[in-house]
Amino acid sequence: KVKQAGKNNYRFFSQEMNESFLQELELEAKLRRALDRKEFILYYQPQIDIQENTVDGVEALIRWDNDELGLVSPGQFIPLAERTGLILEIGNWVLQRACCETKFMQEKTGMDLEIAVNLSPRQFKDKELIDKVDNALDQSGLAPHYLTLEITESIIMEDIDQSIETLMQLKERGINISVDDFGTGYSSLNYLSTYPLDELKIDRSFIMDIPADEEKVSISKAVINLAHALNLTVTAEGVEEYEQIKFLKENECERLQGYYYSKPVPRDSMLHFLEYKNNFEEGKYDGTGYLA
Ligand code: C2E
Ligand code: MG
Ligand code: MG
Ligand code: MG
Repeated sequence: KVKQAGKNNYRFFSQEMNESFLQELELEAKLRRALDRKEFILYYQPQIDIQENTVDGVEALIRWDNDELGLVSPGQFIPLAERTGLILEIGNWVLQRACCETKFMQEKTGMDLEIAVNLSPRQFKDKELIDKVDNALDQSGLAPHYLTLEITESIIMEDIDQSIETLMQLKERGINISVDDFGTGYSSLNYLSTYPLDELKIDRSFIMDIPADEEKVSISKAVINLAHALNLTVTAEGVEEYEQIKFLKENECERLQGYYYSKPVPRDSMLHFLEYKNNFEEGKYDGTGYLA
């Protein structure tokens, strides 16, 4: 009887699930080789200072360029990298690369360009995180205050004491901390005020429907007010329309990021963008910086 159940179980797994399991194994094998084969690339998306109308920073967003798969977006492999632990190596590469390329862009343009790097949960909990960050800064020669690390609410709400300890160590070095996708997770507002943070990023899902959707408008205003009450700056993600910019400016959001200005692009396209498109004076800019 036991044997029978086992057999049924096997059959249950043998169809679709087995197929997707094999697909995942194949993807994992490819992902394991990707670093050695230098298949990762960093793309950069500008972050615009709403008062100055200029770029004050860029966010590094990884892409995977594989012969068979083509250009793979992070949504398709970061979760797998996170599950398998490969994210630690990949993430370390991202840190090093982002710091080096930012230093290079600073030298080329003469700008005080800032760089934002995303950290996954596993990276944030890594005991060697601080050493890895120190190394990336040392090797690139990038000053720590140019670096922002983006983490999500759920990461820091998980192990509060350990999170505060890690954040303090980063802050001691002058590194900035930003809370990504804010509003999609759940934060204890009480704890939020005890963390050493610098910025909240309002998630694209709220920005997308303003100013038409009244609820999203209220939420966006509330997040901006909350951030300011906590002495944090606010960046809006996913800005695509001029109407959104008007709203965000009226409501004292400090920074904007989105396709309106530019999609994420490779370093040299970003350099070109910084040289030729870096003036978004109100009314004059019509979103033609739209690159790639
Ligand atoms: P995120 O950090 O919230 O990045 C913003 C995402 O929104 C990016 O997607 C960006 O291309 C997209 N985006 C920006 N502006 C607009 C817009 O106006 N409209 C629309 N429709 N989308 C916009 P991407 O590059 O596919 O990255 C997805 C997520 O993958 C990131 O979300 C981040 O969580 C993760 N990720 C990307 N690079 C890295 C990395 O180097 N390390 C880690 N750990 N995670 C990364
Ligand atoms: Mg700044
Ligand atoms: Mg981010
Ligand atoms: Mg985000």
